[in-house]
Amino acid sequence: MKLNLIGGDWVEGSAIRQNINPSDVDDVVGEYAQADAAQARMAIDVADAAQRTWSLSGIQARSNALEFNAAELLARQQELGTLLSREEGKTLAEGIAEVVRAGQIFRFFAGETLRVCGHRLPSVRPLVDVEITREPVGVVGIITPWNFPIAIPAWKIAPALAYGNSVVFKPSDLVPGSAWALAEIISRSGIPAGVFNLVMGRGSIVGNEFVKSEKVDALSFTGSVDTGRRLAEQAARGLKKTQLEMGGKNPLIVLNDADLDIAVNCAIQGAYYSTGQRCTASSRFIVQKDIHARFVSRVRDALKALNVGHALEPETNIGPVVDAEQLRTDQDYVEIGRHEGATLAYGGELLTRRTPGYYMSPAFFTDTTPEMRIAREEIFGPVACAIAVDTYEEALDVANDSEFGLSAGICTTSLKHATHFKRQMQTGMAMVNVPTAGVDYHVPFGGTKGSSYGPREQGSYATEFFTRVKTAYTQA
Ligand code: NAD
Repeated sequence: MKLNLIGGDWVEGSAIRQNINPSDVDDVVGEYAQADAAQARMAIDVADAAQRTWSLSGIQARSNALEFNAAELLARQQELGTLLSREEGKTLAEGIAEVVRAGQIFRFFAGETLRVCGHRLPSVRPLVDVEITREPVGVVGIITPWNFPIAIPAWKIAPALAYGNSVVFKPSDLVPGSAWALAEIISRSGIPAGVFNLVMGRGSIVGNEFVKSEKVDALSFTGSVDTGRRLAEQAARGLKKTQLEMGGKNPLIVLNDADLDIAVNCAIQGAYYSTGQRCTASSRFIVQKDIHARFVSRVRDALKALNVGHALEPETNIGPVVDAEQLRTDQDYVEIGRHEGATLAYGGELLTRRTPGYYMSPAFFTDTTPEMRIAREEIFGPVACAIAVDTYEEALDVANDSEFGLSAGICTTSLKHATHFKRQMQTGMAMVNVPTAGVDYHVPFGGTKGSSYGPREQGSYATEFFTRVKTAYTQA
C-alpha cells in the first residue's frame, strides 16, 4: 500500500482506496492510504514549522532540489507515463508527454529560483532608498483534479517550492498513483522534512482542512466551478490568497477562408484527444455557413478513423472515459442533445472492448443552437457540437456568449479577423490556427469569467501567486 508523506515520514491513513484502471476495471493499479482530518491538520502543522527553514535555505539549494525532480521525471518518463495512462485512461503517448511536461516544469522553475528579481528605487525623500522584494507566502495548500494527474501538481508544486513556500498537497481521489510517485521523488530531492507533504483523501475531509486552517496562507485549486466557488467563499473568510482554475466551454471558430485541413485537425485534436477531458478542450465548433457542410463531413470522416481502446495499446487514439460517473454524465448529455433537437452526426455510443472499461465513441452534434445545454454547459468528455453562423461578427458573439472564458480558437487565413479575434475574445487564451488545448509551460495559463480566479499560473507570472511583495525604506 502507498502511504501519505507527513513531516518526512510515510504514514498510514484511516482508510484505504483502490485505484482502478478505467481501461480495464479488473486491473487494480494499487491501494492508497486515505488521510483523515487529524492527519491533514498534522501535515499543515509540520509544513508551517518547516517553512521558515526552507525559505532561508538559499536559492541554490532550492534550485538543486527542483532540478533533481526534473531529471528523475524525465529519466522515468516511460514508466511514469505508463502508470499515468493506466490510472487516468489517456493514451500512453499522452501519458508520457504529460510526465515530460512535469519534468520540463520542474526544470523551468529550477532556473526561475535563481531569477527572483526586485527593484531598488530612490525615495521621494532625499537620502532614502526604497527596495521592493518578493518573499514566500508561507504554507500553500494545493488541491488538484484527475485529468492531468502529474502536470497540474507539477505546475503548482514547482513554483511553490522554488519561491520558498512549504506545501500540503491533496491530489484527486481518482488518480493517486502519479501523485504518490511524484511525492516519492520529491521526498528524495534534498528538501527538509515537512516542507512537502502528501495527504491523499477526500476533498470534503482533507481539502476542507486546507481551506479552514489559519496556518494555510494560500490555496491553489484546480477543479470544477462548483467546488472552486465554495472553496473561494470559505477561503475569503480566512483572508487566504486564492487561485482557482476551473471549467471551460471553449469555442473553435471556423471561417469560410480557413484551411480545412488545419480546421479539422484543430477540431479533432482540441475536442477529442485525451478523451475530451481537458479544461481547454474545444466543445463548440462555430462554423461559417459556406464551409459548414465540408467541415462536418471531414470531421465525421476523421472521427471514423479514430480508434477508441485500451490506453496502453499502441493503436489507440482515444482512451476510455475516466470512471463510471463521468461516463454517465457524457451519456446523459448525448441524450440531452438529442432531446434538444440537435442531430447526432457521429458517435456517442457505449463500446465493448477486449477488457471491461468505460469506452464511448466520440460524439459529434450538428444542427446545434447556442441556447442548447450541450452548447452552454461543460460536459468534460468526448462530446462536441457544431453551430452554423452567417458572419465572423456573429461567430464572435456566439463564442463570447458563455459563463466561461478559458481558451478560444479561430481557423482563418484572414489577418484582419485573426487580429480582431485576439483582441475581442473574452478568454484568457486565444489561439489562431492551433487547437484550443495544448499550451506551453513557460507562459501564463488561465482564463476569465467563471474559468479562473486570482493570479495566473505558470511561467514567470507564477511569482504573483507564490510570493508576496515587500517594500523596505532605508535612510543611508
Ligand atoms: P472537482 O472539483 O470534483 O475536484 C477537484 C479537487 O477538489 C479534487 O482533489 C477533490 O477531491 C477536491 N475537492 C472536492 N470537494 C472539496 C471540498 N469540499 N473541499 C476541498 N477540496 C475538495 O473536479 P474534478 O472532477 O476532479 O476535475 C474536473 C474539473 O476540473 C473540470 O470542471 C475541469 O474543467 C476542471 N479543470 C480545470 C483546469 C484549469 O486549469 N482551468 C484544468 C483541469 C481541470
